[in-house]
Amino acid sequence: MKIGIYAGSFDPITNGHMDIIERASLLVDKLIVAVLCNPSKSKGMFSIEERLLFLEESTKHLKNVEVEFFSGLLVEYAVKKNANVLIRGLRIVTDFEYEMQMAQINKNLLPTLETILLIADVQHAFLSSSMIRELATFKGDTSGFVPQCVTKYIENKL
Ligand code: ADP
Repeated sequence: MKIGIYAGSFDPITNGHMDIIERASLLVDKLIVAVLCNPSKSKGMFSIEERLLFLEESTKHLKNVEVEFFSGLLVEYAVKKNANVLIRGLRIVTDFEYEMQMAQINKNLLPTLETILLIADVQHAFLSSSMIRELATFKGDTSGFVPQCVTKYIENKL
C-alpha cells in the first residue's frame, strides 16, 4: 500500500492546497494531510483546531484522505505512519530553493522516503496562506481563493 504525507502549516488551507490534495490522492492509496506546528514560523492566525476543522470539512469527499496534527521531525512521523512518499506543492520559482533543500535533507535522513513535487496549477501559482491572512485581516473577499467553509468562518469570526 502506498501511503503519502502532505505536510504543511495550512494556516489556512487554500484552493492551491486543495488542488494538490486532490491530485495527490489519486497517486497513493492513502494520503495523510498533516498539519504541522513549524517552530520557525510565527504562531499563525488560525489555531491548530481551526486548521484541522477546515481541512476535514474540505476533504470529506475524498475517501482516502486523512487529516492529522503532528509536531517534530517529518521523517520520524513518516516512519511511524509507514509512509513511502512526501508530497509537496511547487509554486512559482520562490518555492524551488526551499523545497529542494527540504527534499535533500529528508532524503539524507531517510533514503527510502521519496519526495514528489507537484507543480501548482497556474490558477493557484501565486496563491499563499499568508495572502489569505492579509485579506482576512483587512476584511477582503477570500471566496475565490479558499474552500467555502474557510470564507464562512472568516466572515463570522473576524
Ligand atoms: P509550509 O509552512 O510547510 O510552507 P504551507 O501550508 O505554506 O506549509 O504549504 C504546504 C505545501 O503546499 C508546500 O509544499 C507549499 O509549497 C504548497 N503550497 C502552498 N500553496 C500552494 C499553492 N497555491 N499551490 C500549490 N501548492 C501550494
